[in-house]
Formats: sequence, C-alpha cells, structure tokens
Amino acid sequence: MFILPALPYPLEDLGPYISSDTLEYHHGKHHAAYTNKLNDALKDYPDLFEKSIEEILINLNDLVPETIRGAVRKNGGQFYNHSLYWVSMAPNAGGEPVGELAVAIKDQFESFEQFKDQFSKAGATQFGSGWAWLSITEDGSLEVESTLNEDTPLMHGKTPILTMDVWEHAYYLDYQNKRPDYIEAFFQVIDWVSANERYLKAKK
Ligand code: MN
Repeated sequence: MFILPALPYPLEDLGPYISSDTLEYHHGKHHAAYTNKLNDALKDYPDLFEKSIEEILINLNDLVPETIRGAVRKNGGQFYNHSLYWVSMAPNAGGEPVGELAVAIKDQFESFEQFKDQFSKAGATQFGSGWAWLSITEDGSLEVESTLNEDTPLMHGKTPILTMDVWEHAYYLDYQNKRPDYIEAFFQVIDWVSANERYLKAKK
C-alpha cells in the first residue's frame, strides 16, 4: 500500500505564508484522499504495490492495466506531486538557491530573478488547476514549466526537483483568488537545501 507521507514540519511552521488550516486540509484531506484512491485503484493488482510511485508513473502504459490506468494516473500523479510539494517547502527557508543548483540556475536563466520570474509566470498563467515545476531534462539542463491537473514532468522523461501546487485548494483559504500573492509567499518558504540535494542526486 502507498502511505501518506507525514508532513516534514508542524502544521503551524510555514506561517504566515501558508496557514496551518491550509496545510491541515491540503495534506490531511486532499493528499490523503488521493492516497486512498490510488490504493483502491491498485487493490486487485498487488504486484504494483511493490513498485515505487515513480516507476509506476514513468511506465504507466507498460505496467498498469488499461481498466485502472486513468485512476492510477490521476491519483498516483497527485500522490507523487504532493509528496514533492511538501518537501519543496520548509520553515525558515526561502531566500536564494544554494550549492550547485544555484550555479546551474544562474547558467540556465541568467539570474535568480529571471528564474523567479519564469517560475512565477508558469504558476500564474496555468489556466485552471495544475502545477509549476523546476525539472532536469534528459540532457541535464534545467527547465521551468507548468502542467495541467495531475500531470507531472516525470511522465515526460524529466526529473522534477521543485514543485508548486497551483490548484485553488493550495491557497484559497489564505489568499482567496489572489494566486500571485500565494506564489510570492511560496518563494518565502522554498527549501533550496533539499532542492539542491535532489538536483545533485538527479545529476548522477
Ligand atoms: Mn494540492
């Protein structure tokens, strides 16, 4: 069975940027529901519980029977995306990138400000529900993009290292319809230390 990962910090600790109410519902209700529905979709195919969620999503067409593929794509995509989202943030974080990732961001986007501008635009202009991403492509370069609903760059040959949820449930309690304010707040809690660790691991 897939298990809802525990939040890596107390509910209050992303305040005032992300409230404990938002985290409580987002993690305890939304992410929990995706996890339960993923397990439910897979219940007749116990072999798939032996795989990681990354393996399942990358090899969706080969591994997952057609009858449950839609449910696994939706709920497995959301299970994976939210798991990365929680660790993309941390208390007392934000600021600028660190380590080799800082150098790579400067190389790819010319400056942190230009990266921030691109990433923010990706989140702000995603119509309806979706996600903004920083990923490593197959040739090792960095890429910013947005995806719709549960879609993830993982299914398109890339390795995500940072993600921002722009579904309304991620920010409505705190910011109502003001998605750009949420995006600015997200930058105050990005965990660049763990993002750099994911970058180094993906580069290997
Ligand atoms: Mn969400």
